[in-house]
Amino acid sequence: MASVTLEHLTKTYPNGFLSVNDVSLEIEDGEFVIFHGPSGCGKSTILRMIGGLEDITSGSIYLGTDLLNDILPRDRRLAMAFQNYTLYRHFNAYDNMALGLRLRDLPRTIIDSRVKEAAEFLGITKVLDKKIKALSDADKQRVALGRAIVCHPKVLLVDEDFARQNDSRRREMLHDILAINAKYKTTILYVTNNYEEAIGLNKKIVYMKDGKITGIR
Ligand code: ADP
Ligand code: MG
Repeated sequence: MASVTLEHLTKTYPNGFLSVNDVSLEIEDGEFVIFHGPSGCGKSTILRMIGGLEDITSGSIYLGTDLLNDILPRDRRLAMAFQNYTLYRHFNAYDNMALGLRLRDLPRTIIDSRVKEAAEFLGITKVLDKKIKALSDADKQRVALGRAIVCHPKVLLVDEDFARQNDSRRREMLHDILAINAKYKTTILYVTNNYEEAIGLNKKIVYMKDGKITGIR
């Protein structure tokens, strides 16, 4: 089960700033949920705590019935698409996408079929043997998403800065993550401070302000 449950989740940064203030939320398996609110309201902090990039001050995060708090990020069965994704510029697209699977010691045939299936799905089959530095920004973005989905994550965390370069990148990225949600039933948590975009997606919206949830629609 890939439901995500936040219970009294709280984050106080070392400088004493309370950025996430007692947030409780239930996200269903396969749901696409948008976190929306002004810059600085704590959206990214929540995503980073779920992803394990940031310590939790207090409260709990569950994936299904598993308590995630003390599980290492790489063992959480979730994937993150953030801005500073590091693609290896001198490796080709295939190797970049295969990296996470190789670290898991999966058989070569499985790695190959997973990478090719994800590439087909994202429309980047033709560039698999090209080095990252030779790819368009749009294809780099797809390789980064491909690298996230080859591991068959139960949950995909997407922060708005993943595709902040321009509007068409954003539209393509949204198209891709909606397709991932539809095809693989991956639970998606998407962060945006853009109201039009949040409304236009026609999915559940969690409204935030000053570290708190102010409404859900
Ligand atoms: P959002 O993603 O909604 O724009 P963030 O989660 O990035 O907001 O940040 C929430 C609040 O926490 C902001 O006021 C931000 O300045 C503060 N903050 C973020 N990271 C740190 C940090 N490492 N130390 C102190 N304060 C931080
Ligand atoms: Mg943010």
